[in-house]
Amino acid sequence: MNRIFNFNAGPSTLPLAVLEKAQQEFVDYQGKGMSILEMSHRSPEYSHVHQQAVSLVKELLELPDNYSVLFLGGGATMQFSMVPLNLLSQEKSCDFTLTGTWAKKALADAKKVGSVNLVYDGSADNFSSLPDPSDLKLDPQAAYLHLTSNETIGGLQWQSWPDAGQVPLVCDMSSDIMSRHLPPGKFGLIYAGAQKNLGPAGVGLVIIRDDVLDRCFTDLTAYLSYRIHAEKNSLYNTPPVFAIYLTKLVLENLKQSGGVKAAAKLCQQRSELLYGTVEQSAGFYSCPVPTLCRSKMNVVFRLPSQDLEKTFIAQAAEQGLGGLKGHRSVGGCRASIYNAMPIEGVEALVGFMQVFASRHG
Ligand SMILES: *Cc1c(COP(=O)(O)O)cnc(C)c1O
Repeated sequence: MNRIFNFNAGPSTLPLAVLEKAQQEFVDYQGKGMSILEMSHRSPEYSHVHQQAVSLVKELLELPDNYSVLFLGGGATMQFSMVPLNLLSQEKSCDFTLTGTWAKKALADAKKVGSVNLVYDGSADNFSSLPDPSDLKLDPQAAYLHLTSNETIGGLQWQSWPDAGQVPLVCDMSSDIMSRHLPPGKFGLIYAGAQKNLGPAGVGLVIIRDDVLDRCFTDLTAYLSYRIHAEKNSLYNTPPVFAIYLTKLVLENLKQSGGVKAAAKLCQQRSELLYGTVEQSAGFYSCPVPTLCRSKMNVVFRLPSQDLEKTFIAQAAEQGLGGLKGHRSVGGCRASIYNAMPIEGVEALVGFMQVFASRHG
C-alpha cells in the first residue's frame, strides 16, 4: 500500500482507520451475510448506524436538546435551495454575507426564492478579507442571516460570529464543521456537505433548532421540507445509507481521538506550521489572506510565478504530496488540511516547501 498525503479540497482525505474498517465490514456486515449497502434502511443493523450517526453529531458538537440532526441527499448545494424554500417568505428578506465562491452560489439560489439584503459584499476587493462581525448592519426583521463559516476556495474563515439577536443564524459549515467549538445554541441552522470533514460526498448534514423548524413552511413538496425530514428522522425516503455509515465511522474516529477539542488543537498546529513556513520564506511564498481571517482548513498561497507554481505542484506530487493545486477559478496553490490530515503530512509538506524555496528562491 502506498497512500499519499492528500491535500485535496473535497472530496478529501479520510482517516485510514475508517477506510480499513469499512473495507473489513464491506462484504459481510457483522455476520449478516450481506453488505450494509444491500440491507434495508429499516433493518435493525442500519437503524443502529443511523441513530449512532445522529447521536455522535449531537455529542461531538455538544448540541442542546432543541436541535434535530438530519442527513439528506444533495450535499451542501441542496441546502442552498432548501434554506430559502423553507424559510424565506414574500413578506421578509434575508441578510446575506457575500464572502467568496460558496456564499455566491448560496446567494444566487436564495435570490431565486425571495429578496436578499447584502450586509457584506466582498466581491469589490475580490473576496480578499472578511468583515468584523460587529460592523454588519443587520435587519432585525430578517428571515435569517446567512454566513459561510469557511470559504474553501479563498481560504477565509470567520473567527467570531455576529450577534443576530432573534434572527436565526444560518451557516454553511461544509469545510470546517467539527474543527472547532461552537457556542451552544448560537446557530439556528447549520449545514455541511460531508466530503471535507465528515465523510463521502453526496450527503448533507443539517442541524436545525426547534424554533427554526417551527418557522418552516408547510406547503413544500416532501423532499424539500425540513419538517418532513425531521418528523421522519431522515427516513422519509431511502437515505444515502453508505455515506451515512461512513460518516458514522468518521465521527466515531473523531470521538476516539479526543473529539472537537482535540481536533481544534490539531487544526491550530497544522495551520501554524504552514502559515509560519509561508511567513518565514522571505517572500518566496505569499498568502493573499490577511492574518485575521486566515483559514485553518484551506491554506492558500502563491509562489513568485505561475511557472514555479506548476513545478512546485508537480514535484510535490512526485514526493507523495498530492492535491496542492489551487481552485481553477483562482489559481495558485492550496493545501487543504482537514481533520483527517495527519500532522506528519503537514510536516512533510513544509519540509518540501523549505527545500523548494532554497532551490528556486
Ligand atoms: C464544498 C462546499 C460546498 C458544496 O458542497 P456539495 O456537497 O458539492 O454541494 C458548499 N459550501 C462550501 C463552503 C463548500 O466547501
